[in-house]
Amino acid sequence: MWTGRLQGGVRRERRMNPGTSGIHHVTAITADAQRNIDFYCGVLGLRLVKVTVNFDDPRSFHLYYGDGMGRPGTVLTFFEWPRIPGGRIGPPQVTATALEVPAGSLGYWEERLRGAGVEVSGPVERFGEGVLRFEDPDGTAVEIVGVGASAGEAWEAGPVPVEHAVRGFHSVTISEEGHEGTAGALTGLMGFELAGEEGGRFRYRAAGDGGVGAAVDVVCAPDARHGLMGGGVVHHVAFRARDEGEQARRRERIAGAGLNVSPVMDRTYFKSIYFREPGGVLFEIATDGPGFAVDEGVEALGTGLMLPARYEGLRGEIEERWKRLRLPGEGGR
Ligand code: ZN
Repeated sequence: MWTGRLQGGVRRERRMNPGTSGIHHVTAITADAQRNIDFYCGVLGLRLVKVTVNFDDPRSFHLYYGDGMGRPGTVLTFFEWPRIPGGRIGPPQVTATALEVPAGSLGYWEERLRGAGVEVSGPVERFGEGVLRFEDPDGTAVEIVGVGASAGEAWEAGPVPVEHAVRGFHSVTISEEGHEGTAGALTGLMGFELAGEEGGRFRYRAAGDGGVGAAVDVVCAPDARHGLMGGGVVHHVAFRARDEGEQARRRERIAGAGLNVSPVMDRTYFKSIYFREPGGVLFEIATDGPGFAVDEGVEALGTGLMLPARYEGLRGEIEERWKRLRLPGEGGR
């Protein structure tokens, strides 16, 4: 349902992708779609840009959040596996997902999160930037990092004042028992460069990338308990490819390194390939296009139930559950 509230709130893409090896999206698991929507839209102020189903498990919702357009580098997504028991965060996994906001906004966020009943720790300093840490209602580890200048653009029509709003990803933290294999994959296959080390945390930066989500931290946690997939756990992280040609070239390099890599899969909003990096974390490489406006107008993003053609036969069943969801800015349907 279009309420007119977003008018003027979505700007046109101003620049073509300056660089393309940063984070494209991060996908985690939630046990409760409604609670997830309420948190990411209502508290963190992200825009719900798509409601669809897991293309490999069509009875499970797939929720996408992002900036006004759902640009690569801003897209946090969740599979809803209802009532799934909580998993365990630990190596080898993405053990924290960091969003970036202006440095002067950390105080605002601390207050906003506490006001919403979220337990916040920090700010701690990391590579010269302030970091707040907290968990979402499923226990997913989320961080907010204050940065001097961001390449991202805040969504202007969300509940958070635009000067404080989330700009997109800052980074992810990957925890591993040993970091060499992952480091080799990041630098040899994914276009990252080592940018620094601080207290056992190795920071890699997408080479030549000026976009949001350009950093990956690898932390060695040889003594930590192994992670277990479940609610609150990150399922995979996707990195950007400018187009299908760049994706195909990377696919060749990954296969050439002796890793098993999936065929190209059509995810409607992007094309994807998947492989497990040597440390054990599921990596995806997703194309920047065509993007989320391919099946809904920009102003209507996230307001419909979007299904790929092959699952239209299940629409009645899925729609029953979708109709019960309270979407942001909606009094009811
Ligand atoms: Zn993905």
